Amino acid sequence: MQAIRSKDTAPELAVRRRLHAEGFRFRVAHRPLKDLRRTADIVFTRRKLAVFIDGCFWHSCPVHVPAVSQNSDYWNPKLFRNRQRDEETNVLLKEAGWTVLRFWAHEDPEKVAAAVASEVRALTFSES
Ligand SMILES: [Zn+2]
Repeated sequence: MQAIRSKDTAPELAVRRRLHAEGFRFRVAHRPLKDLRRTADIVFTRRKLAVFIDGCFWHSCPVHVPAVSQNSDYWNPKLFRNRQRDEETNVLLKEAGWTVLRFWAHEDPEKVAAAVASEVRALTFSES
């Protein structure tokens, strides 16, 4: 599974570059919870914000996966398990007090970065 979530994909890099340019600092490909074997793509540890940028194929993006999975009996169970795993990750993190943001790799990095930035700011303000 770890091999599937590849590090440093182009969409991730584009989002990270924009966040860096705005002065945000964060961890990359980091486990939000030490004892949970799930790695988020961008992690703001102090704000407890985990960001996932999900690959369209492996995480069954509704825009791109239907065409792929239609004729593939082999992939369907795998993709289904991935979806379940994503949902489980969301639940476990939320239970631990984390905020989870998920985006698709096909989304505009500009918009993704803006959404992440506004969430970080919201979490910062709600802290005091
Ligand atoms: Zn997609």
